[in-house]
Amino acid sequence: MTKTISLLGSTGSIGRQALEVARELSIGVAALTANQSVDLMEKQTRQFLPRLVVLYDKTPAQELRRRVCDLPVKVSSGMEGLLEAASLEEADTVVTAVMGMIGLQPTLEAIRHRKRIALANKETLVCAGTLVMAEAQKYGTEIIPVDSEHSAIFQSLQGCRDRGEIRRLILTCSGGPFFGKSYEELETVTRQQALHHPNWSMGAKITVDSATLMNKGLEVIEAMRLYNLPQQQVSVVIHRQSIVHSLVEYRDGAMIAQLGTPDMKLPIRYAMTYPYRAASPDKPLDLTACGDLSFHQPDLAAFPCLQTALDCARTGGTACAIMNGANEAAVGLFLRDEIRFNDIHRLVQYALDAIEVKYEPDLADILEADSLARAAVLNR
Ligand code: MG
Repeated sequence: MTKTISLLGSTGSIGRQALEVARELSIGVAALTANQSVDLMEKQTRQFLPRLVVLYDKTPAQELRRRVCDLPVKVSSGMEGLLEAASLEEADTVVTAVMGMIGLQPTLEAIRHRKRIALANKETLVCAGTLVMAEAQKYGTEIIPVDSEHSAIFQSLQGCRDRGEIRRLILTCSGGPFFGKSYEELETVTRQQALHHPNWSMGAKITVDSATLMNKGLEVIEAMRLYNLPQQQVSVVIHRQSIVHSLVEYRDGAMIAQLGTPDMKLPIRYAMTYPYRAASPDKPLDLTACGDLSFHQPDLAAFPCLQTALDCARTGGTACAIMNGANEAAVGLFLRDEIRFNDIHRLVQYALDAIEVKYEPDLADILEADSLARAAVLNR
């Protein structure tokens, strides 16, 4: 069980909830990192008194250093700062809640220092999953997923002695705010509509990914990497209520699922306390009050991002890194109102058509594929 964490990405949605769980369970905080939010970082620093705080951007880091000069805390910046936070001696667990590819190198650093990884940064596994999992195996590092679906699968796999018994993993998907709409109807939806998720409250990037269903595509790849299964053994089912968080179907036909109210604190808490379960102060799910549970096939024609992700998952090599980099750049453009909703998929497909896939890539190939994809989208 976790005694002290280093929290990468403390000012985002998962990061803030991870700090709530840390306080609830009296877990120490050795390091906090964020991109540039000086105000919130100052507040968190005063509350949790970590030894190290990092703001990735230099100028806000200088401002933070000035503001917390009365505290015994070191303020760093840049990738160097993130790597130091990931390898801090007193932290037994590193929570990786940063958004995007920036999380890859700190995750590898934490793995090499044999920290437990509470992984909430799916892009890391999507782009470099084979590499990350090989390093984790080499160093004997535990990777515990924080993503709600993958935590549900991880929980449903407890007691499974032989991975050969798994017939398939079934990821549930809320369908997002545009469930039931056709591709044509999606041409005119707005940023405000895309940011209105029916069940989960999350950061802007992942909320848009949930609207295009790219998030579910990324999660299929994440599940393949975590559990070393081919794409054919990971399927997606639309489940509007977000009560069943995902399932494992075993070869004898048994389906084991994890259910609960949609609250990220449960998977965060479990990642910190595994193999134990800590008491939660929150009200549990009331089965008689949560209404009917429904399950549907996803509409791949209306949400082509999911189909593209499944195709890239089968292609392998740097295809997933190209797709992910293009998607991050395209979602950025959409959030700045520079492109329309369906353009996100068009630009992802454009990058995949323009950039050659490399097979059996090393870290440099993956980082190159990522930056080529972003450049392709931004210079379209
Ligand atoms: Mg998820």
